[in-house]
Amino acid sequence: MDQETLFTLALGLTSPWEVRNIRFSSEDRRLDIFVGFPRGSLFTCPVCGSKGAKAWDTAEKSWRHLNFFQHEAWITASVPRVKCDQGCGVKKIEVPWARSGSGFTLLFEAMIMIMAREMPVAQVAEIMDVHDTRLWRTLHHYVDEARSHLDLSEVKRVGMDETASRRGHHYISLFFDMDESQLLFATQGKDKETVDAFAKDLTAHKGRPKSVLQVCCDMSPAFISGVKAQFPDAEITFDRFHIMKIVNDAVDQVRREEATTQPLLAKTRYIWLKNPGNLTAKQQSTMNSLKNHKLKTARAYQIRLTLQDFFRLPTRQEGEAFLKRWYFWATHSRLPPIVAAAKTIKNHWDGVLNWFDSRLTTGLVEGFNSLLQAAKARARGYRSTANFITMAYLIGSQLNFSLPT
Ligand SMILES: [Zn+2]
Repeated sequence: MDQETLFTLALGLTSPWEVRNIRFSSEDRRLDIFVGFPRGSLFTCPVCGSKGAKAWDTAEKSWRHLNFFQHEAWITASVPRVKCDQGCGVKKIEVPWARSGSGFTLLFEAMIMIMAREMPVAQVAEIMDVHDTRLWRTLHHYVDEARSHLDLSEVKRVGMDETASRRGHHYISLFFDMDESQLLFATQGKDKETVDAFAKDLTAHKGRPKSVLQVCCDMSPAFISGVKAQFPDAEITFDRFHIMKIVNDAVDQVRREEATTQPLLAKTRYIWLKNPGNLTAKQQSTMNSLKNHKLKTARAYQIRLTLQDFFRLPTRQEGEAFLKRWYFWATHSRLPPIVAAAKTIKNHWDGVLNWFDSRLTTGLVEGFNSLLQAAKARARGYRSTANFITMAYLIGSQLNFSLPT
């Protein structure tokens, strides 16, 4: 077997394509593979599919291929325009090793997709020795292509949350299928329009907004009004961790105000954010030493701890009775931040109690957020929000990429 035949087989080329010549330069660290076809070869017409199309003229084109050990490999071919025997005119054909418009072979692109899930794109670019904007173009293509085949007709329970896309007040909103644990949609912003855009995307992928019966989110008015407008049959459950965060923030505010007159509270911020069981021995003894000082912060802390028990109750009925008592206690605490937090909960009463029916939290989305933020940190940010969103799909969706094996 000659080396041309060997490379023809190695590349998986099928008739009429064959390797014509190979040039290997160890000096340039480069392997060039020249691909061609015998004179008189017949091609498939890209218009009608007839197998009787003949080459009309050719144009030379090169594609970057997978490295051959440490050598850059390139495929160069004279790509024909063909003239079909059925009278379809002169048309450019697609080559089997690359997709139209790409300067990479399919295998090279497959490698990019695999590596980009595991390491920052800039690092992939360095390893493969290509500019990262070309890699991003490939990633966008495959993600968009895979998303175009999504079937979202089964989506019934959705979780939504936002995450920072870059420094300053820049966010993207994320929409998850809570049953399949996968990212459905990501878009710039955290306003009501993001929910509108999600509903539109869902509809474009065979989903029906009327089939969405449960939504879990935080108490942001944007999400709430978006859900009411776009998913009229959905019941909202407010995420328990966001509810607790509101009360936690209130405790911290009480502490900060009290600390201006109470030096004992200096450097105790993190103690009040924790649960008693999670305190270190040192924090535990600090907490004990503060016990007999009738601190407002300690009262606020007790109110916060008690609310945690709400989420452990077995039924909605018990939950509601408990929450009523808690609300009365909190609103009579004479601690303005706690009163405000309690009123926020009161204003979202049903969505808070819906926890007992849906048992939904956005914990899944938060977990994904931390993966995404870790990837962003490793990448030292992304050039654009579009890149960030593509990375989110790459990490958070079970997309089927049509890649060669
Ligand atoms: Zn034809």
